[in-house]
Parts: sequence; C-alpha cells; structure tokens
Amino acid sequence: MIVKDNEKLAKYTTYRVGGIARKFYIPENREELLNLLIKLEDYKILGGGSNLLINDSKIFDNIIKLDKFDQKITSYGEGKYYVGASVRLQKLINFINNQGYGGIEYLFSVPGLVGGALAMNAGRGKQFNNQISDYIISVDVFHNGEIITLSKEDCLFRYRGSIFKNNNYIILGGLFQFLPMLKEDSEQLKRERIVLCNKNQDKHGTNFGSVFSKYDRRILKLVSKLSLNKKEGVMFSKQTINWICNGGKGTYSDTIKLIKLVKKIHEIFGKEIELEVVIWD
Ligand SMILES: Cc1cc2nc3c(=O)[nH]c(=O)nc-3n(C[C@H](O)[C@H](O)[C@H](O)COP(=O)(O)OP(=O)(O)OC[C@H]3O[C@@H](n4cnc5c(N)ncnc54)[C@H](O)[C@@H]3O)c2cc1C
Repeated sequence: MIVKDNEKLAKYTTYRVGGIARKFYIPENREELLNLLIKLEDYKILGGGSNLLINDSKIFDNIIKLDKFDQKITSYGEGKYYVGASVRLQKLINFINNQGYGGIEYLFSVPGLVGGALAMNAGRGKQFNNQISDYIISVDVFHNGEIITLSKEDCLFRYRGSIFKNNNYIILGGLFQFLPMLKEDSEQLKRERIVLCNKNQDKHGTNFGSVFSKYDRRILKLVSKLSLNKKEGVMFSKQTINWICNGGKGTYSDTIKLIKLVKKIHEIFGKEIELEVVIWD
C-alpha cells in the first residue's frame, strides 16, 4: 500500500481545489483496502475526484484513494462482467466494445472510476434517462465491518444518486449485464460523444461536472450572465449550463459563496434545487 503524509488533495480532483490529507492511503489490492477499513475509524473515499469540491483550508485525517485496489474486468460471457471499483470508465467501455458489447458509450467523456460512477449513478442528461445503473445486476460493498452484495433494487439508484452517495458504503465492484453491440456502432457512439463534448463543454479553467442535480434553468442562465469579469476566478459557465469553471485563482469559499447564492435565488422564487457535487467541508 502506498501511504503519504500531509498530501495536498487539489491534484487528485478535476477542480484542482482542496485541503490536505494528514494520511493519504492508496491500497493496491482488496485485502489491503479491507484491512485498512477495519483499522481506521474515520476516513473519506476518493475515486477519480471528478465530482468533488474539497475545502482548501482544512486538514482531513484519513483519505483513501481507490484507483488501484481493483482494476480487473472479468467476463462471464454473453455480456456479463464483474468490474472492480478502480476501473476507469473509458477502459471499461473500450474493453466491452472490443468484445462486442456496449450500452454506456455516453460515459466515454466522464473522467471517473466505476466505483464513483455507481455512487453518483453517472449518466446522460435527465431528458435521456440513461445511467450506469441500467446495466447493473448487483454491487459488492464493505459496510459496517462486512462485505455484502446488494441487488440493483437495494442500491436505491436515483438521478445522480444512490444509497452509496454520502453514506458509509465502500463499493468494491459490480456485476453488469451489457448489451450486444457491433464494434462499428460502439466506435461511432464514442466518436459522437467526443464531438458533442468538444462542442458543448466549457474548456475555460477547471470544473467538477454538474453542480446541481435539480435546478431552474432560467435562474442558472441569469447567474451565468451576471458572473462577468471573473476570468481567473470562479464563475458559472456561459457555455455549459450547470457547470462552475475556475480560471485558476478561485478558492473553495468563492465556490461555496456562488453555490449558496444560487440556492438562495431558488428559495426566493420557490424553485426546487438539489446539489449533485459532493462537498467535503
Ligand atoms: C469534464 C467532466 C465531465 C463530466 N461529465 C459527466 C456526465 O456526462 N455524466 C455524469 O453523470 N457525471 C459527469 N461528471 C461528473 C463525474 O465525472 C461523475 O459523477 C463520476 O461518476 C464521478 O466518479 P469519480 O470516480 O470521479 O468519483 P469522485 O468524484 O472521486 O467521488 C464522488 C463521490 O463518490 C464517492 N465514491 C467514489 N468512489 C467510491 C467507492 N468506490 N465507494 C463508495 N463511494 C465512492 C466519493 O466518496 C464521493 O462521495 C463529469 C465531470 C467532469 C469533470
């Protein structure tokens, strides 16, 4: 296991903002992870760090990074696969596509790991109703000192959430059933996804994907128009609705202020709002 002291967390997130981990652990197999989880009382789990906003003035005791402990994909034939939580989404998609299966090519642009994608129930925009849980059969987790297998129903998947989000479940791996798909079709879907993202996703600075899982589009459009002249700081993207971009000088507290402002405006107008990004305060 790799163990680092006083490790800066910013570089482990796509937003590049974060505090310090007094102890930073990278278990390299399942046994190391389980021994660590049994030993530690308090910890936080980091996947690909692509939907995380971390307080940059805080020291966290124990952070466990899960990108190494299980990177295996095992095929059971006919589109059934067991996938370790450390597997990158792109790797999973290419792997199953090469064997004539598919279904989640729209996640080819998502810079997360399978564990993080299951916790967040990563998917396409709400109007498409496509998410990674469409293909899940069961998920193995560490919870309350033991390994248990949860059925799809037990996982309580919802739009950008699950029983795992902000809860004490560590996802170890999942059993998936993917669809038969011709290689040329899956290649085409991945190409289309990349073209769409290059066109629509804001490349100004850093981001953590979507901020809210429920929001009023008109309010966010208005706020993005008002966030003028913040090129080096934090602003709601004018190009990608529901993204906050950081030009490099924005801090955790700048980002929180902006999120609170948007929540307040929703409250004033009686509109529903729900956070998607996970915040470590
Ligand atoms: C450029 C960009 C594009 C994106 N596009 C999309 C998109 O199209 N669709 C979409 O849904 N999202 C998108 N996202 C958001 C993000 O990539 C997804 O939510 C992704 O699934 C998060 O995975 P992660 O491994 O990075 O998780 P992290 O950000 O590391 O963690 C997110 C949460 O999951 C928890 N977690 C992580 N791993 C585990 C585990 N093994 N067990 C238990 N809990 C765990 C963490 O503790 C945290 O609470 C995008 C983000 C970026 C930066």
